[in-house]
Amino acid sequence: MVKIALQIKVTMENVAELRPSGPDFRWYMKLVCSNCREESDKWNYMSLSETVSAPKGHGISHYVSKCKLCSRENSITILEDLVKPFVARDQDGFQSIAVFDCRGLEPCDFSPRLGWTVKTIDNGTEFSDVDLTEGEWGEYCQKIDKSIWIYEIEHRFARIK
Ligand SMILES: [Zn+2]
Repeated sequence: MVKIALQIKVTMENVAELRPSGPDFRWYMKLVCSNCREESDKWNYMSLSETVSAPKGHGISHYVSKCKLCSRENSITILEDLVKPFVARDQDGFQSIAVFDCRGLEPCDFSPRLGWTVKTIDNGTEFSDVDLTEGEWGEYCQKIDKSIWIYEIEHRFARIK
């Protein structure tokens, strides 16, 4: 069992916080089998609100698949307590926004897509259902009378202890 953190780095203007909207948020990832290194060619998603029955001893899982090549049954659990917002004060560096408990397979690519919440600075508007599919997003906040922007989204995965 390996814990993998998804870390992102985002450039934000007039944004205090970017976060996945809630338990229905879908984490779209490409996955690789830890045993034979077979990589999925399509995007798979997992979300906290959808649990699946895992192989014996794996506990609660949010994603289960059988490797096409080596036939191993693998699973991933999203660690709910470690789903965190990306906050403006540290936006020069990568921040961990989710941690996955990986049993037999690991994420190798991430696609941000839909379902983000964006909190504007100075108690401005909170926008929900933000779509980051295009890799950038902008809106005008009437409350603070400023444009807000999100762009240059980068991600990486890190093994944690
Ligand atoms: Zn395999």
